[in-house]
Amino acid sequence: MIVIGIDCAPPQLVFERYRDAMPNVSALMERGSWGALRSSEPPITVPAWTCMVTGRDAGELGLYGFRNRVEGETALRLADGRDVHSKRVWDWLGDHGFRVAPLFVPLTFPPSPVRGHMISGFLWPGADAPWCFPRSLETEIVDRVGAYRADVQRFRAEDLDRIYSDIVAMTEQHFQIAELVWKEKNPDFLMMVEIGVDRFHHAFWRHIDPEHPRHDPKNPWKGLGHEYYARLDSHIGRLCELAGDETTVLVVSDHGARAMRGGVCINDWLIERRYLTLREPPAAATPLDHGLIDWTRTRAWAEGGYYARVFVNVAGREPFGVVAPNALGAMRAELRRALEDIRDDEGKPIPTVARIPEEHYRSARGFPPDLMVYFDDLALRAIGSVGNRRRVVLENDTGPDSCNHDWEGIFVMSGGNAPRRGRIEGAEIYDVTPTILAAFGIPRPPGIQGKDLGASVGGGGVGMTGPNPASTCRLQQRTRS
Ligand SMILES: [Zn+2]
Repeated sequence: MIVIGIDCAPPQLVFERYRDAMPNVSALMERGSWGALRSSEPPITVPAWTCMVTGRDAGELGLYGFRNRVEGETALRLADGRDVHSKRVWDWLGDHGFRVAPLFVPLTFPPSPVRGHMISGFLWPGADAPWCFPRSLETEIVDRVGAYRADVQRFRAEDLDRIYSDIVAMTEQHFQIAELVWKEKNPDFLMMVEIGVDRFHHAFWRHIDPEHPRHDPKNPWKGLGHEYYARLDSHIGRLCELAGDETTVLVVSDHGARAMRGGVCINDWLIERRYLTLREPPAAATPLDHGLIDWTRTRAWAEGGYYARVFVNVAGREPFGVVAPNALGAMRAELRRALEDIRDDEGKPIPTVARIPEEHYRSARGFPPDLMVYFDDLALRAIGSVGNRRRVVLENDTGPDSCNHDWEGIFVMSGGNAPRRGRIEGAEIYDVTPTILAAFGIPRPPGIQGKDLGASVGGGGVGMTGPNPASTCRLQQRTRS
């Protein structure tokens, strides 16, 4: 089996807008099963891929974003592979005697022993840090394809031509490495994740999406989406050709993408409502420096990103806590009500959902936020910086970016014994691990979530769209024309 992860690929691009640029993926769809794949909560790369390869939710994993809190500190710390305490799909496969090759999957740094080969993903810190298991694979690869490109540097920047050529070179190298490993190491299971797609969306979304409020139809990059997806498809096609018809191929993404309309300045709102107090007001917009927080007069603060993580300054839990632990429940309810009533600068309500992790997940391990807040169903980010003059700003506070993540990723499965079911509805990111294990005949491990998408129709709880659904017909007609 080969799993090709294309980070951030949304159904509307793969199944519709760029489908004509993707004959190989189209052929997989026609011979197999495909549909939208509901992401994890939150739909963010590091938790999402880890949910996919473990069959556990972000609460069970204790991974609420790229960075997470640790006891005794208010600052977040970047997650790495040592923060994953659940078995991943390749561990179970290895236990059953199969040879595995997880390549570039997020949270595989530092590389860890597997029954086969592992290459760390984009969170590899570079320099002398190891990136392969076993380490001897590093020189084998560098000798053949040059220095390892784990990620694109500064992808939230203005030099778009440089960013695009870096993305293209990285994507090409990753597929070359996957081909080498498949041919020469003969794994039973190879999984690769291409982060270039995510970087491409963040850098180019407003230029390729005519619906984006800041789209300029005369911009010189508007054809790049078509071009990049066509490149991606030809890489996928080559890998499928190498794999042959007896190999099952899964093409999946961890979440989708949508136009970013701007962001809500959550910490400025907390300051205005006197939940958060700074020692002195910032002269201009600036990241929230925890050293400048007057903790004695602060009841809550937030971390920005695709969603807001709000933390209550609880006594005994936080280094300078002031809110009595038995007041936490009331404080969360009060904040939740106020946040769900938040307005924009013109006084219009911003549709907001604030969730309590313990109510939402099976369990909330690690250091969960007290509230998880989503603005306008992810069309608006959460802006963590302070000193913004508006409630809603148009730009991201961590560099130019016009793309937000979205709830629906993609799923295509074809080849080997995979059933030809056409479009299926209701697939979720948690289904990927049970689907892979079932394909290898491995009994379902206790406690994991999800269902086998390869199970016969009706057996897996997934609805199949009727024999000739309108949307499938439309897509087939487009392919034929
Ligand atoms: Zn991602």
